[in-house]
Parts: sequence; structure tokens; C-alpha cells
Amino acid sequence: LIDRGQAEHSVITTCAYCGVGCSFRAEMKGEEIVRMVPNKDGHANHGHSCVKGRFAIGYATHPDRINTPMIRQKISDPWRIVSWDEAIAHVASEFKRLQATYGKFSIGGITSSRCTNEETYLVQKLVRAGFGNNNVDTCARVCHSPTGYGLKATLGESAGTQDFDSIEQTDVVLVIGANPTDAHPVFGSQMKRRLRAGARLIVIDPRRIDLVRTPHIQADYHLKLKPGTNVAVLDTLAHVIVTEGLVNEDFVAARCEHDAFEKWRTFVAQDKYSPEAMEADTGVPAELVRRAARLYATGGNAAIYYGLGVTEHSQGSTAVMAIANLAMATGNIGREGVGVNPLRGQNNVQGSCDMGSFPHEFPGYRHVGDAKVRASFEEAWGVSLYDEPGLRIPNMFEAALDGSFKGLYIEGEDIAQSDPNTQHVTAALEALECVVVQDLFLNETAKFAHVFLPGCSFLEKDGTFTNAERRISRVRKVMEPKGRYADWEVTQLLANAMGYPMHYKHPSEIMDEIARLTPTFNGVSFDKIDQLGSIQWPCNAQHPEGTPVMHVEEFVRGKGRFMLTEYVPTSEKVNAEHPLILTTGRILSQYNVGAQTRRTANVMWHDEDRLEIHPHDAEERGIQDNDWVGIESRAGQTVLRARISERMQPGVVYTTFHFPGSGANVITTENSDWATNCPEYKVTAVQVTRVSQP
Ligand code: SF4
Repeated sequence: LIDRGQAEHSVITTCAYCGVGCSFRAEMKGEEIVRMVPNKDGHANHGHSCVKGRFAIGYATHPDRINTPMIRQKISDPWRIVSWDEAIAHVASEFKRLQATYGKFSIGGITSSRCTNEETYLVQKLVRAGFGNNNVDTCARVCHSPTGYGLKATLGESAGTQDFDSIEQTDVVLVIGANPTDAHPVFGSQMKRRLRAGARLIVIDPRRIDLVRTPHIQADYHLKLKPGTNVAVLDTLAHVIVTEGLVNEDFVAARCEHDAFEKWRTFVAQDKYSPEAMEADTGVPAELVRRAARLYATGGNAAIYYGLGVTEHSQGSTAVMAIANLAMATGNIGREGVGVNPLRGQNNVQGSCDMGSFPHEFPGYRHVGDAKVRASFEEAWGVSLYDEPGLRIPNMFEAALDGSFKGLYIEGEDIAQSDPNTQHVTAALEALECVVVQDLFLNETAKFAHVFLPGCSFLEKDGTFTNAERRISRVRKVMEPKGRYADWEVTQLLANAMGYPMHYKHPSEIMDEIARLTPTFNGVSFDKIDQLGSIQWPCNAQHPEGTPVMHVEEFVRGKGRFMLTEYVPTSEKVNAEHPLILTTGRILSQYNVGAQTRRTANVMWHDEDRLEIHPHDAEERGIQDNDWVGIESRAGQTVLRARISERMQPGVVYTTFHFPGSGANVITTENSDWATNCPEYKVTAVQVTRVSQP
């Protein structure tokens, strides 16, 4: 974004990239954005910003935007531009035909963390009330679904426990499977300020992330574990806490279920979970684990921050529960400066999950099988609702391939690029009879679409996003929708055409309905957010101005529940054919699959994905810096340029996944979390060889 001179007016809105949720003032001259200025009154960012939120907005007006609806009969046909009326009527008629031919469960919808809360709520309402099934899912499936599962099981609420500012009271910061300085830069900077002010630091990560050693910061302990062994390391930390008498007995006695705790205590005390016994599996020296455990348990207020390096594993949900166990065992929960803090990847992952976009839950994380809850939605929505969970995204792919699932409405999600094992995903998409993509660009998924509906960038949206600290902030329209309709209006048009009436006039009316039907949102309204600046849910009669810290007097579920977290090694093994482990992550200037940031000046900083490899592994293979390398897994192969880096440990390679040509997900496997099907992006056995330029 080039600074274009004096502004005439400004609009306060919220960044649409990461889960920090920074507030910005979009300064405008007429219809043009002059500059994005971080809002000093923003509750999540206090006037700070990063290169994405501040500069990477050019995609909104990029010539690649598709602003007219398009249809084609077969995916090999050319697109035909049509009116909105024709496009909506076509989708409704196709979806009705599919349900009449193959049954009501043959269609479904996928929403995205790019959507506002109100848009997501409408998509799940369309599926549940309009389609008559629960086949709705969200891209949170592939990132933080284990957080929802693990925190609900242990603490009773599927959300982080603290606000970001709580870190100002933290004495020990434990970061596991997260890289905040790249992926959550504004909070990463706040963390660095706290560390420079004297807080101690434990990092658990296979790679030497910046936080481990950066000016004036040196991690006290870096547990450089082998990818796939999070649960083993967390269990060894618990073993030390239990066997060295570091449990906060008073807290546990007062706040946690006695029997579950005693079972857990016996479980983690087993010799097999001693750091010494686990050293060969985890690769972490036992003494380092012991010291880190002592620091976490006795160093004062200790807070755990984690990211996708925890969740995107076959034991993602187990690891989340193991983290909650540690916090409860040491009493590091329920006050400022402590807690369990998932760093959400996308701007509205938290909100997407809150709004009922999982196939088994209504808004507010209430199971579709709960008759009382279902009755409240049936009364409000005027239909009878199905009582069994619907298909998750991976189940949709399976059902498409077995012929029982035929139509899919996708709003704001590029599943063909972002989901693992691309070949499997594209085969499933090809098997569908009607794929509807509502998006900004003809993305990878749109290559398999029969209908394209223009979507809106965040600059064209009115609504709310909810960040990683449960903070609901307003997104305000800066420019009119390029394709005529706002995203929520498109969903409403589709619902009406399908025969399920919706008559909202503004997203605030959707939020009013969410508030009426969702106990944790009872007190939320656009007016109140405007008045307070932002609100952290729960916000209701008990917490009229929101809740920065949860589980203060008691856990949401009453007593905290310790869960047994058996370490089960991933089935993705290295062998002679695939001797290295590939793990993945993000870089500061780019964002996820890059659909937005690749279309901005941010490509100046990073214009390709590279394979990071340790010097020993590179030397063994005759690889020099910048050489092209072939990467082959059991699922597929791709080619990238190499970056030789001592950040890596021998035996582990790493890449980002921002550019479609890099094919990171061509090589990731179908392994997934046992509880939620979140893909195991972080562990893929590969071979790397030097190749000539592709
Ligand atoms: Fe946007 Fe996240 Fe950067 Fe804030 S830290 S400006 S929310 S990308």
C-alpha cells in the first residue's frame, strides 16, 4: 500500500489476518484507502501492528478479483458470466436436485475463519435449517479443532483462558509449538517486551525459532524435541512435577476432580514417563526437562502459549489436554499472568468455532444431540433440526469418493490448497456434481467449481471477528462490496432460494439473534461493542462487560478434570526410504496459503517457499544453499529451493506453505488427530535429494 496523501475521513476496523485481531483506522480519501494506521485505542494491539495488517491490503483491489457470478456445467467447460439471480437460482435448483436424487445428507457447507461471526452463523444456519442436515464444517478443522476438544474436556470451555495483557503479570512464559514473532507478530512483540523485562522463557519446538535467541532475550531452556513427541515431552514435564513434589496440592484439592487427579498422578508417575526413559523418543536431554519442569512449577506466575505445532498432530487433542493438566497441577490457571493460551492462526478461528460451524455443535459449543438446546433453535428458526452430528471436512471427501455426498457450498476457504494430501482432496472435489465457491479469486478450489460467487474482502464487510483472547471486535465497511452483495447477503439469498426464509437487514440483527440463542453471548450487541471498544466473551448478566480471565472462582465445567494423556507415537515413521521428518510453519510477511499476501507488496520480503535443512543433512546429500531439491513423501513429491540453516536439528526439515506451486500439501499425509481429524501437517517422513532446476 502506497501512502497516498491527506485523508478525508477514517473508519475503525479489525485486521483480517492473524488471531491477534489488531484494530486499525483505515484513512480514506473518497473511495480510496490512503493508509492503514494502527489504532492506539485498540485493545489487542495498543497502537502496534505488523507488516501484514499495515501494508498487505492491496489484494482487496487486485485485478485478479472476480466480481461477477459465473457458472459452468462441467469443470472442463469455460466459465459463463451470469446475473446474481441466475447464479443463485442455479445453485438452489442444483442443490434441490441433488437432495431429491441422493437424499438430504448429500450436500453440505464449509465456512471459514476469514468470515465474520455473523457470516459463519448464517452458513451453519443455512445448512442446519435450510439443507436439513448438520454437514457443516470450518477451516478450524485443520488448525485448532483439538483446542476446542481438549480445553472443553478439561476446563469446560473451548477457548483460551486469558487476555493478551495478562502476560504483563507473567514470570515464566512457556511457548510450545508456536512461533509468535512470525505468526502473531504484535503479541510476539508484547511477549518479547515482557521477556526483556525479566520474565523467564521455556521454548518447546523442534526448530530454533527467533524467540530462543534474539537481542536481549535468551531462552532459559529450549527443548528441541523430535516432531511428533509433544505428548511425550508434556508427560515427562508432568512426571517431574508429580515425582518431585511440585504439585500445587491446595489448588488441586479445591478446584479439581479428586479421582481424576489421583488417576492422573499415578499415570504420569510411571517410570516410562520419566525424562530419562523418554529421552530416546523425544530427543530432549532429561536434565533439560527436569529443569524446565521445575521452573514452570515454581517460577511464579507461569503461562503457556501454544499454536499449531501442538494441534496439528495425530495426538493434537491429547497434547492440548496435557497442557491443561500441567496448568491445573501447578495452579497456573484462573488469575492474571497464568493460563492456557492457544494462539489462533487466523483472524476469526475462535469466532468460527464459537458460531457453531462444527458439525456436532450449535453456537456456543452445545451438542446437536442435546434435546433442550436443539428445541431452543427449532423454536427460533421455525424448523425441526437433525439430532446427529454431520460430516467433518475429511468425511465429506470420503463420502464424495464413495458417491453419497454430491454438493458443496464453500465460503472463503481454499480446501484444494490448504488441506493435506492434495491428490485426495482434488479427487473428492472432482467427484462432486455441484461445487459452489464464494471467494475473492479463482483459487485452487475454484478449479473444481461449477459456480463461482464473488465474495468480499474484510474492507467490504460489516460484522465482528473474535480473536485468540475471545475478544469480539467490530469489522466496519470501508468500501462497498465489489460484487454487489455482502457475503451474509449471498448466504441469505441462497437460503431464500432453497425455500428457507431469512430476512436480516443488517449484520447487527444476526448478532442480536446469536446473543438471544447463546448464553455466553447474551450480553453482546453491536451497540455495546461500539460503546466498550471490544468485548471478551462470556458476556452476559453475570459478566455484563465481558471476561478477560476465565475460570477464576471455578472452572466453567465446575471442577477441573485431569485427563490421562497416553503417548502414542505417530504412525508416520522415518525409514531408509524416507529418513527425514518434514514440519511446516509460517513466515512474518506472508499468510497461510498466500491468496491475499501474495497479491500485495509483501512479496518483496518473501516470494517463494524454501526447504530449511540442517548443514549435516545437506552435506550428506551434496546440497548447497539455493540448490533445487526434490522432496518425496509417501503421499507425493515436490521441488523447492534449499536454505541451509542451523535453526534445524539434524533429521528434521522445514518449509512454509504460502505459495501454491510449492506443493507443501502434496506431500503431507492423511494422518490426523484421533479426536477431531485435524491433519498431522507437522510430521511427514520424507527423502530430500538434490535435483536440477525444475
Ligand atoms: Fe494483523 Fe496479526 Fe499483524 Fe495484528 S499481528 S496487524 S492482527 S497480522
